[in-house]
Amino acid sequence: DANVVPIQDKHNQRLTGVILVLHDITEIRHLETLRSEFVSNVSHELKTPVTSIKGFSETLLDGAVEDPELRKEFLTIIRDESNRLTRLIEDILQLSKIEQQQIKPHFESVDFVDVVQRVLKVVRKPLKEKRIELVLNLPESYPLTSESDGLHQIALNLISNAITYTPADGRIELSIENAVEQAHVVFRVSDTGIGIPEDDQQRVFERFYRVHKSRERETGGTGLGLSIVKHLVERYHGEITLTSVEDEGTTFEVILPTHPLN
Ligand code: ADP
Repeated sequence: DANVVPIQDKHNQRLTGVILVLHDITEIRHLETLRSEFVSNVSHELKTPVTSIKGFSETLLDGAVEDPELRKEFLTIIRDESNRLTRLIEDILQLSKIEQQQIKPHFESVDFVDVVQRVLKVVRKPLKEKRIELVLNLPESYPLTSESDGLHQIALNLISNAITYTPADGRIELSIENAVEQAHVVFRVSDTGIGIPEDDQQRVFERFYRVHKSRERETGGTGLGLSIVKHLVERYHGEITLTSVEDEGTTFEVILPTHPLN
């Protein structure tokens, strides 16, 4: 895609040169492809629970409602799929909000340890149910400049995943410490869970990517949690990495500048 602008001599109108304007549209094309892929993924993901809600309610209306056992089973599916739909919509909205780069972060003073403690209150029940041992390597407090809600979301998604993908009686370790680089903090979430196969390790940050599609549908996941985390981390000029061994466990490490505005 090029524009050719002729340059002419003012007096005798002779052509004295040309300016060639080149636009690189590969990047734009790439973004367009990503966008339309996203729309088709979203449609597909939304359709699945809706199809199931529709199917089971029709079966109930067709007579299954008379059988108390079937009725309970089908209503439970309808309720669970509705909840899934709600989570999907919330996650999609959240992701699209973060992706609108024009909304700049509202940086504020936050205590990272306080954020993590609040997340731990939210996940207390599943932790207890699975008898997961929690090892905390947290200082008394860790003040930094960030967004409280965003940090909460990062910690919540990583810790929830650690719980989901760790079998009962496993162990989860959380730590917050100074990074090797000055003025950076490291937040680490380690689990003794199922692990992520090497080939999937970089793809888990993609939207809707799940290692075991069908099994993970049962866990209630949306496949958006880690892409939300990655977007937030980048929003705060940080980095996220993972190391994992199948059947042994996974460690996610988030490195953030403590004062991203400086
Ligand atoms: P989901 O809602 O499916 O958990 P995420 O975006 O949070 O979606 O994660 C994407 C996928 O990465 C998950 O479906 C799972 O396969 C894998 N994954 C994420 N965290 C872990 C973990 N701690 N241990 C093992 N696998 C994980």
